[in-house]
Amino acid sequence: FHFAAPQNEPVLNYAPGSPERAALKKQLAAFKAAPADIPMYIGGKEVRTGKTVDIRPPHEIKHKLGHFHMGDASHVQTAIDAALAAQAQWAATPWEQRAAIFLRAAELIATKYRYHMNAATMLGQSKNAYQAEIDSACELIDFLRFNVHYLGEIYKQQPYSPAGIHNRTEYRPLEGFVLAVTPFNFTAIGGNLPTAPAMCGNVVVWKPANTQVFAASMFMQILLEAGLPDGVINLVYAEGPVLGDVCFAHRHFAGIHFTGSTGVFQQMWKTIGGNIDKYRSYPRIVGETGGKDFVVAHASAPVDVVVTALARGAFEYQGQKCSAASRAYLPDSMADEVLEKLKATLGTMKMGTVEDFGNFINAVIDERSFDKISAYIAQAKKDPKVKIIAGGNYSKTDGYFIEPTVIHTTDPKYRTMCEEIFGPVLTVYTYKADQFEETLQLVDSTSDYALTGSILATDRYAIELATRKLVNSAGNFYINDKPTGAVVGQQPFGGARASGTNDKAGSMLNLYRWLNARTIKETM
Ligand code: GLU
Repeated sequence: FHFAAPQNEPVLNYAPGSPERAALKKQLAAFKAAPADIPMYIGGKEVRTGKTVDIRPPHEIKHKLGHFHMGDASHVQTAIDAALAAQAQWAATPWEQRAAIFLRAAELIATKYRYHMNAATMLGQSKNAYQAEIDSACELIDFLRFNVHYLGEIYKQQPYSPAGIHNRTEYRPLEGFVLAVTPFNFTAIGGNLPTAPAMCGNVVVWKPANTQVFAASMFMQILLEAGLPDGVINLVYAEGPVLGDVCFAHRHFAGIHFTGSTGVFQQMWKTIGGNIDKYRSYPRIVGETGGKDFVVAHASAPVDVVVTALARGAFEYQGQKCSAASRAYLPDSMADEVLEKLKATLGTMKMGTVEDFGNFINAVIDERSFDKISAYIAQAKKDPKVKIIAGGNYSKTDGYFIEPTVIHTTDPKYRTMCEEIFGPVLTVYTYKADQFEETLQLVDSTSDYALTGSILATDRYAIELATRKLVNSAGNFYINDKPTGAVVGQQPFGGARASGTNDKAGSMLNLYRWLNARTIKETM
């Protein structure tokens, strides 16, 4: 007996005139008409503090979508207490029963709340309908279904027993609580980070980015409707340092499941290290922390393939994916043609609100991001070493809008070739076509990150050379495709170096981190 391997949730098409588009539009309008009052969920109870923070669509900052209730140290403490109180019973709950809850949540999203999840992600995080569908519907559903499947496979793995001896392995949850800290950019990551440990029998305190609360709280309600017992996952909103002070000083802190910036992750790791003698067990530290993802085109690549990989890889969701193409290496034999066609393609991409489904580009997440990204562009405009090929304009009058911007540089170590910008900015460097191998070396040495990257070529030798030379440069390596859009069950996601601990999201590698294995030998 085992859980059957799932298939990826089909991506719905929101074509003009389709019933799906009408339903999604209706949900968008409903959310906009009735401002939401969003509580924390601690021990299954709604908690309102009265200290509210407004939620506004990044593309329409004058509109108030609602507010959420901010917590303080006492709420984080209550969430830990609720988690620990739920621990024994949850760990003792049969695996099949735990699995059923997460499969039910997946089904609820697929059939009942798909438009709620997508509309919340569109409005709260400024994603267009397609970007929301592949995230808050398909990828989230896939994480839940595939993780259930993988966990079932793990439980079946048992040691060899010779005659007269019975050996077995129990895969137990960790002792203590797991902290999940989730970013704004994927609702699916918001869903995966707390549920992967919870599925394994762990109890969780979940703190989403403020800019993800609208969709995250909706998913929390779906988990409760699916039958998740009170206290197994506790959703709190708190300032990062407040959360860290309480969680990382706790004797029963058992691990962190994190996606966010390298700087924050390193700081957390140091704090955890400084507290190491306080803990009952060594905490599991699992994090995905950014990228400076490359696209290398070989002279044998078709120009149109290069243009598409760059346009989609760099600018879908305004470049706010850890996996987004942000530095490109083009051979001089095709650079001019690629840049000209790329500029023309970007010229056809409309920018605006998510409610107009014709817009490919929406807003960046908040004012802080806007200021950071636009400062890079402003500086590039003044630098004689670089040239703006496309875009370069930005405005925060109505929302945080930044045009898809392409920078060309003659300095391969120009700052926008090295630093993570997390916005719609692509920097391009032209190399001499006969210096392909040296360029691969340059690609590897330019960034500390190693998340994703692409080689575009039809020449098999070039593909093999790049695959070999860039062996440690990307945890997700693409041949003839953009470096974004990993699909659960197909391309387990995550990198090494400054990009994270490589515990691939949506895989057995990740789930093992949330398990304590007990080996039992019985002599007959
Ligand atoms: N998994 C996403 C992709 O492949 C990126 C996730 C992230 O931005 O953290 O595009």
